[in-house]
Amino acid sequence: MVDNFWPARRCVYCGGLSSKIALCEGCAASLPWIDEACPGCARPQNFKALCSSCLKKPRPFDAAWAAFRLDAPVQQAIHDVKYHAGFLQARLLGELMAQKLGRRALPLPELVIPVPLHRNRLMLRGYNQSLEIAQSFTRTLALKIDANAAKRIRATPDQIGLSAAQRRRNLHNAFTVDARVAGKHIALLDDVMTTGTTLAELARAARKAGAVRIEAWALARVP
Ligand SMILES: [Zn+2]
Ligand SMILES: [Zn+2]
Repeated sequence: MVDNFWPARRCVYCGGLSSKIALCEGCAASLPWIDEACPGCARPQNFKALCSSCLKKPRPFDAAWAAFRLDAPVQQAIHDVKYHAGFLQARLLGELMAQKLGRRALPLPELVIPVPLHRNRLMLRGYNQSLEIAQSFTRTLALKIDANAAKRIRATPDQIGLSAAQRRRNLHNAFTVDARVAGKHIALLDDVMTTGTTLAELARAARKAGAVRIEAWALARVP
């Protein structure tokens, strides 16, 4: 049903011919892909080792990964997904993410858990943007997704404009994760990773619930 809206084999960005997904090779290549990043926090950098801030203070998750820098046109696409129900964009972004994830040499997680929205926010928006993106790449990579394992039990104000310390306070004990993650290698998915506070708080809850290896994934990372 959704496919009818996608012009067949036309790039959604430039209108040129496209062979595989809805984006031609030229447009796909010109996206702000992250080539090299800190394995601890996914911050783009030009070497593979942990960055100085991760060396000083390890994060509550075991590894972090993001496909893109939060930059044009990915930034606008995420905005569409988040605020204008851009489900086609979500699917496209998820497929791009799958391409990049599929090339990693690391083992893939047993379970992908999108960062949950509080039920009030979910009712207002009608959907969870992280779940929309996760559904797309988990389908492509045949990964398991569990959108109910984690819950946001506190309605927290938006993080925009808050300092790192304020973000931490804002999100303290905001999540619970149930025991189905126990003993598992999981990946938590957020649409955008800014300071990593949201993913860190969710990771703490997942650790309490017994997850053994926790990766923090984001579609895009604020450099
Ligand atoms: Zn194109
Ligand atoms: Zn780092």
